[in-house]
Amino acid sequence: MPALSQLSPEALSELRAGLRQEYEALKGQGLKLDMTRGKPAPEQLDLATEMLALPGNRDTTADDGTDARNYGNLQGLTETRALFAPVLGAPPEQIVVANNSSLALMHDVLVYALLKGVPGGDKPWSKQEPIAILCPVPGYDRHFALCEGYGIRMIPVPMTGAGPDMDVVEKAVADPAVKGIWCVPQYSNPSGETYSDETVRRLAAMKAAAPDFRILWDNAYAVHHLSDERPSLANVIEACAEAGNPDRPIVFASTSKVTIAGAGLAMLASSAANIRWYLAQAGRRSIGPDKLNQLRHVRFLKDAAGIAAHMEKHRALIGPKFDAVETAFAARLEGYEVARWSRPLGGYFITLDVADGTATKVVALAAEAGIALTPAGATHPYGKDPDDRTLRIAPTFPKLEAVRKAAEAVALCTLLAAVEAKLDA
Ligand code: PMP
Repeated sequence: MPALSQLSPEALSELRAGLRQEYEALKGQGLKLDMTRGKPAPEQLDLATEMLALPGNRDTTADDGTDARNYGNLQGLTETRALFAPVLGAPPEQIVVANNSSLALMHDVLVYALLKGVPGGDKPWSKQEPIAILCPVPGYDRHFALCEGYGIRMIPVPMTGAGPDMDVVEKAVADPAVKGIWCVPQYSNPSGETYSDETVRRLAAMKAAAPDFRILWDNAYAVHHLSDERPSLANVIEACAEAGNPDRPIVFASTSKVTIAGAGLAMLASSAANIRWYLAQAGRRSIGPDKLNQLRHVRFLKDAAGIAAHMEKHRALIGPKFDAVETAFAARLEGYEVARWSRPLGGYFITLDVADGTATKVVALAAEAGIALTPAGATHPYGKDPDDRTLRIAPTFPKLEAVRKAAEAVALCTLLAAVEAKLDA
């Protein structure tokens, strides 16, 4: 395929006519496909069906002898914290295991920071100058929604393929109003990239003007591999401690995409001081988490090898869906030089960068043909992608055949939008 830029106006018009015809035929199929959110498919949830019968009527005593049915143990059961210690990269005493949704923990940490301040700071964040948080882009829309909802200014930072551009980050944190950075360090949502050791080292060691600066380390895809090639992610808690900034990172993770998305466990790991701080705030909010679910997870997953074995079953189900998107994109788009897409080694997303200025149009064309995509701009703070370029493709939920159809349709819309933009230029 020749690059689009090499085509004569006549060749472009001819290409457009062919694509328009295909597009009209696509619309005629009356498709109804949804590629918007990174949800596990029902078959993935079925993998944990056996867990629902656990821990069983007579199995409610935790390792420390307490009754898991009763109130208490805000930090979570020792055995559950031990189970997830290797995932979080912290000792069990520096871990909190809570109810489902790590997003809820992120929310609470932000709100506690705003209302009460964090260790190292002398005032609540809300009582300081208007504060800001660095947002690597493309990024996770719900992080942005949290900041926007609580009036925290967002500063976009470009991703490089090895994490955020650290030159930009290091400059930005010289401003004491900058209180933190969102990070999805492994198989990032949506680019799929994993932070390099150098990125982690610089994040840990950089001089932040705010003494209460926090790295919000959302390691949502810590065990979600799609390949045998597994990038290793440096331990941010150790790196920060070694650099003399032990209270800087707060690590989040969950079993939402390991066991059951709506009934998993969320967890947080950090320095001893941050854990004390968190528990002091959370103690007003609740007497303790659902420890039966914690026992259920321990009985089902057992240990790190059990988690890894379970994740292989997920990979077997969703790997072919990622492959189908890659195949469809390559078949339609390769050579034209109008789009780039990620080939993630793990996680839940593919990033599709379309021709500048056409992402909104691609989403509209797809919608008209019955394919719902995440809105253009969702990967950027305030929903504004200045280049109107980046789309997030979420292939896990629909059936394989539907993913294939949707990806072919998105590729067609991508090329059509690029050709029409070129003809209009
Ligand atoms: N963080 C990231 C980066 C995610 O992609 C998601 C889910 N899409 C979440 C957090 C939400 O996690 P949870 O279900 O634990 O709230």
